[in-house]
Amino acid sequence: MHTTPDILVLGLGPAGSCAAILAAQNNSLTLTVERKVSPGNPVQCAEFVPALIGNMVNNLRGCHVQNITSMLTEVENDAPDLMANFPGRMIDRAGFDAALAGEAAKAGALCHYGINVRQVTEEGHVLLADGTCLRPKVIIGADGPHSMAGKAIGSTNEDILETRQISVPLYKPFQSTDIFLNADIRGGYAWLFPKGKTANLGLGVIACDKPRLKETLSSLHERLVKEGRVGAKILSHTGGAIPAGGMLKPHGKLGDTLVLLAGDAAGLTNPITGAGINAAVMSGRLAGEAAADWLLGDEDAPAHYHEDLTDLFGASLSRALDRRRALLQNYANNNTPSPDDLRASWIAYSEYWAA
Ligand SMILES: Cc1cc2nc3c(=O)[nH]c(=O)nc-3n(C[C@H](O)[C@H](O)[C@H](O)COP(=O)(O)OP(=O)(O)OC[C@H]3O[C@@H](n4cnc5c(N)ncnc54)[C@H](O)[C@@H]3O)c2cc1C
Repeated sequence: MHTTPDILVLGLGPAGSCAAILAAQNNSLTLTVERKVSPGNPVQCAEFVPALIGNMVNNLRGCHVQNITSMLTEVENDAPDLMANFPGRMIDRAGFDAALAGEAAKAGALCHYGINVRQVTEEGHVLLADGTCLRPKVIIGADGPHSMAGKAIGSTNEDILETRQISVPLYKPFQSTDIFLNADIRGGYAWLFPKGKTANLGLGVIACDKPRLKETLSSLHERLVKEGRVGAKILSHTGGAIPAGGMLKPHGKLGDTLVLLAGDAAGLTNPITGAGINAAVMSGRLAGEAAADWLLGDEDAPAHYHEDLTDLFGASLSRALDRRRALLQNYANNNTPSPDDLRASWIAYSEYWAA
């Protein structure tokens, strides 16, 4: 393994792979380290992406599972509301991550799997679990919600949504993302996303409600089984953390080493929907370019990267943060949000988009 690469990418999720593709295409000696043995496995995702992602990702067709055309939102026990125009796709997320990692390797990035990063030091060195010390010129932290690169430069995701998801047989195929808003699901929501003959059924909540995830998911699962929509058999379990505190400062220095953060590590996941794949792809590409530009002498590249992220995601993240704060405020003094409060906090309703 090269111990002094130009650019070291931590993590080979969508952000890391996209960063590595652009870094290698710009002729930087690019090394990536990923703790998973194979990219994208195990899957920690509900696997929905907006239709527009196809413009940025070449071989999406290989991991396309089914189309999504609309969104159905059920608030408490009211009849579901239909948002007729909500185009997207369900993907095979493991295949998606593997395809992007394959492109990074094809572009010339040196990709290493099954390697855990143990520490990012104040001097900008990266210590691996096997004792190897890497001394890159640039570190791109694409190592997810609990990023070590982020921690080293003081950019950490403090507000986290905790999730739990099961995959179940789907008896009645459909083409919408089904959303369940309920005052008991504090700071988050539950979802049923169709994948042909199976579906991803899950929920996310504020971190302190993590112990209640299992019970809440089980009761929703039981209800959907009784309604004849899904099967009782649980095909797989997953879960994970989702940043919900908005964008972090995405650059810093450790000694002479430049650090850039991308994707979840930069807090780019939407605090209301939890969606982060699109932002990971876009920010990863920009980070790879910014790193290569900086190596060529453009000292302003990190600040421009920050500006680009703000231009792309600032407004939507700040609206989502406002709505999330207002929603959580409803729980103060032992109150609970009304159905109207829940609607105002969800993207399917005009109240969410109001000034
Ligand atoms: C249950 C769940 C459902 C979700 N559903 C959706 C959805 O439907 N649509 C959507 O858009 N978003 C969804 N998200 C969010 C989405 O998965 C993330 O926003 C996206 O994966 C961010 O990509 P990333 O590359 O920044 O981070 P990740 O995909 O998390 O990649 C980070 C990589 O870094 C590696 N890594 C971390 N630490 C180390 C270390 N110390 N050493 C080596 N490697 C390391 C990890 O193994 C991982 O492969 C969901 C998240 C969860 C948890």
